[in-house]
Amino acid sequence: MNMAVGSSQLVAPQPVAGGAQAAGGQAAAGAVWRPGGGGLAADVAEVASGFWSLVVGLGVTLAEFFRPTITLHYPHESLKMTARFRGHVELAPDPATGRPLCVACGSCQRACPSDCILVEGVKREGERRKSPTVFRLDFTKCSLCGACVEVCPTKGLRYSKEYNLASTDKSVYVFDLLKRLQAEKK
Ligand code: SF4
Ligand code: SF4
Repeated sequence: MNMAVGSSQLVAPQPVAGGAQAAGGQAAAGAVWRPGGGGLAADVAEVASGFWSLVVGLGVTLAEFFRPTITLHYPHESLKMTARFRGHVELAPDPATGRPLCVACGSCQRACPSDCILVEGVKREGERRKSPTVFRLDFTKCSLCGACVEVCPTKGLRYSKEYNLASTDKSVYVFDLLKRLQAEKK
C-alpha cells in the first residue's frame, strides 16, 4: 500500500526473500519514509528548484539593500511635506520684519464658509496699516477649502506643513495663529 505525502511517499516494507516478517504483523505498522516518489532525477530537480528560488529571493534582498531608504522611524522621525501639502492655514510672516503680512481686513473671516476664523486688529500710531491683535482659527470646522488663502489681499495666509495632529480634546484644535507665528520666530 502506498500513501502519498507531498512529493514523497510512505511505502510499506517489502518482504525479504526467505526472511521472516516481524512477528504479529508489526511490519505493516512500521512504514518506511523514502524521499521522492519519482526517482533520483525528480529529487535532484526539486532540490535545484528550491535552491534557485533561494537565489532569486536573496537577489531581491540584495537589490533592495542598496536602494535609498523610504521609510522613517516614526514617531522619532517626521516626514518632510511636499510644497503643495495643505495643513491647516497659518499666518505668513513678512520676510523682512518677521511680522504678520496680515492687515486685519477681515476678508478671510467673511469668505470662510464654515465660520472658522476670527480676526481683530488695530491701527497703531505712526503705521499706515492695521495689525492683527487676534487671529483665531477653529480647525475643528475647517474643510481646507482654501477660500481664506485665495481671498487674502496681502498673501498673509498660507497652508502649514502640520500633519501630525492627534488629540481627544477638541479645544486643542482652536489655534491662536498669532502665538503660533511668534513661537516659530524663536
Ligand atoms: S480653508 Fe476654508 S474652511 Fe478652512 S478656514 Fe479657510 S476658508 Fe475656512
Ligand atoms: S484676508 Fe489676509 S489680510 Fe485680511 S484678515 Fe485675513 S489674513 Fe489678514
